[in-house]
Amino acid sequence: MQEHGQNWKDVKSSLIQAKSKDLPYEKVLSSMCTYPHPIAIEAHKMFIESNMGDYGLFIGTYELEQKVLAMLGDLLHNSHPYGYLTTGGTESNIQAVRAMLNACKSIRNPNIIVPASAHFSFDKIADILKINVLKARVLSDLVVDTEHVISLIDQNTVGLVGIAGSTEFGQVDPISDLSKIAIDNSIFLHVDAAFGGFVLPFVSQHVPFDFSLPGVTSIAIDPHKMGMSTIPSGALLFREEKMMDFLRVDTPYLTISSQFTLTGTRSGASVAGTYAVMKHLGKEGYCQIVDRCMSLTHLLLNEVRNIGVNPVIDPVMNIIALSVSQPKKIRKELATQFGWQVSITKQPPSIRLVIMPHMTEANILAFSRDLKHVLEQVQFSENNESEKDRIFDGTGNMS
Ligand code: PLP
Repeated sequence: MQEHGQNWKDVKSSLIQAKSKDLPYEKVLSSMCTYPHPIAIEAHKMFIESNMGDYGLFIGTYELEQKVLAMLGDLLHNSHPYGYLTTGGTESNIQAVRAMLNACKSIRNPNIIVPASAHFSFDKIADILKINVLKARVLSDLVVDTEHVISLIDQNTVGLVGIAGSTEFGQVDPISDLSKIAIDNSIFLHVDAAFGGFVLPFVSQHVPFDFSLPGVTSIAIDPHKMGMSTIPSGALLFREEKMMDFLRVDTPYLTISSQFTLTGTRSGASVAGTYAVMKHLGKEGYCQIVDRCMSLTHLLLNEVRNIGVNPVIDPVMNIIALSVSQPKKIRKELATQFGWQVSITKQPPSIRLVIMPHMTEANILAFSRDLKHVLEQVQFSENNESEKDRIFDGTGNMS
């Protein structure tokens, strides 16, 4: 750190320089975040100093948080949820599993069962909470194999996890079956709807995934993904109040006597941003956003099918994974030649595209055109390679 302070003009110019290196979202098809709604930004700025880590000092923000929980509960079919606003899906998942573990302290070597398609936050959970995270295989349509889940349950299993909107493929596990399995075995069921929570309630096809299923004990849902709020905004909701008690620690020097959150200091600005955007959009507003993303998803699907590319699964939400050979190479060429940011999946290998609200029809068409170009190039170089292999045998001699 330098000795003397800099004037705002100079500081601002280094900020502008740094910001110019960040990628604008318009060409980003790899992220589950997007531009926050302008109203969320306004509200965020209004509450920038608010610390929910000591909410006795910020009663107004605390009341907003309770209102957000009530709105989320309504969305997820629970008229009285218990929970709090987290920093995102990772924290919500950690805390859901931490509560399960604390509720089952007598189990010495506990495990949870998650689908093989679960987000990598569950690998962090295994590491942090020192719990065995058993991975149940997925079927060909990438939903968890419930028979395998059942076979993995033993006397040390504290809970199951189902994914409502998997990170890589946007697939939804059979949460109603998992709910029955959880009840039959008297274990918890956490639903990771970090992405799908703000999508599934607004798609035309009804997909059961929430507290309407009696075995679901907790849900992670992220306002900073499809909820259009500011970062960091996640939420963890429990069906039962006692689960919050399993997270509680005493906080002697604060205005509140205990805390159930993972972080201490916590953004009240995100709480205000989430409240404002949910109030402003209402279910109707989110419906329009999801409708638009789904139309663009189907437009993209149509375009890629026209150039002979198929999705790994028919998209359930606004995520498409494209079955292509050499996905890594295609990803690199799309970025270097055209500036598109896409991601790749591991199993099965594919190009993963998330069609977020920042996407436009013009950009989807431009992307499809550029993808076609790159696929032709890759195909051409593949053909050249195999032609070389045909002409020369393994010793370098002509065959
Ligand atoms: N769960 C799912 C299904 C996700 O897709 C993600 C992130 O992509 C997470 C959890 C983690 O969320 P965050 O990055 O907000 O911690």
